[in-house]
Amino acid sequence: MPDTALSYHDVELAAERLAGAAHRTPVLTSSTADARTGGTLFFKCENFQRMGAFKFRGAYNAIAKFDAAQRAAGVLTYSSGNHAQAIALSARLAGIRSTIIMPLDAPALKVKATREYGGEVVTYDRYTEDREEIGRRLSQERGMTLVPPYDHPDVIAGQGTAAKELFEETGPLDILLVCLGGGGLLAGCALAARALSPHCKVIGVEPEAGNDGQQSLRKGEIVHIAVPRTIADGAMVTHVGAHNFEVIRRAVDEIVTVSDAQLVQTMAYFAERMKMIVEPTGCLAAAAALHGVVDVKGKRVGILVSGGNVDLARFAELVATASA
Ligand SMILES: *Cc1c(COP(=O)(O)O)cnc(C)c1O
Repeated sequence: MPDTALSYHDVELAAERLAGAAHRTPVLTSSTADARTGGTLFFKCENFQRMGAFKFRGAYNAIAKFDAAQRAAGVLTYSSGNHAQAIALSARLAGIRSTIIMPLDAPALKVKATREYGGEVVTYDRYTEDREEIGRRLSQERGMTLVPPYDHPDVIAGQGTAAKELFEETGPLDILLVCLGGGGLLAGCALAARALSPHCKVIGVEPEAGNDGQQSLRKGEIVHIAVPRTIADGAMVTHVGAHNFEVIRRAVDEIVTVSDAQLVQTMAYFAERMKMIVEPTGCLAAAAALHGVVDVKGKRVGILVSGGNVDLARFAELVATASA
């Protein structure tokens, strides 16, 4: 059990560090979505955040806290997704070196984007090698500070600034829906909700194929599962983080699941009605409202749209199946 009790104050401090660096992303509404659900929906659009996802917030906040020795040695992480780009970009803005451990079979586009942001990419074989072991070894050899994708207090506090901005714009809400992978975004946003809208119900949304978070919350301890098969690649985790669960168990009310088919329909909805590209994982929270998994009738509802990084060909392929 982590010994640090994270609080909303950590989110406020993160917001000060992020001021001027992160975008204050738009909060959009859709009368079609309101008519369809009977609720009043506010979409916090982190697909318009720098590098295309909320991950910039946590990565930048963690690096901004580095001391001189940490800055001189640089930052290290492992990720095949948005956290890789978030660390590479944040490191470049801070003027420090970054090394990203990525699987050999990571999408070429993501490897390319990470390199373009100035990150040094070290590849490993995900079937025979352990990325956490490589991370520990490299951080020892090079003295670099490891900033993991979600299980870190500074990452959680940074992600919470997304919900802080949302509540500042909408005022108190009845329900807040947040996607759940390792729990960085959900834990941070729950801290903001508890402070800024105490009566708001905070609900995490994860893919049906991997409901480890739901099982963990019900059981009161972290449940591990096999790598879930889902199109929500940002939520393909086997268990929530320890720091994350410490917050989730005290600040989150419920965790629900949505199917891949519902995610695809939500992607199509965003493209057609709201004219925006949202990646599959970014659709989790909205899918729960649009498909009635959570009843939002008569409620004021915040929805975290977490990211928009999806290969265009893949996007077209998925959306084509939705309208059939
Ligand atoms: C990482 C990620 C998630 C999951 O976030 P966690 O903090 O791991 O729960 C959801 N959506 C997108 C777009 C992501 O990049």
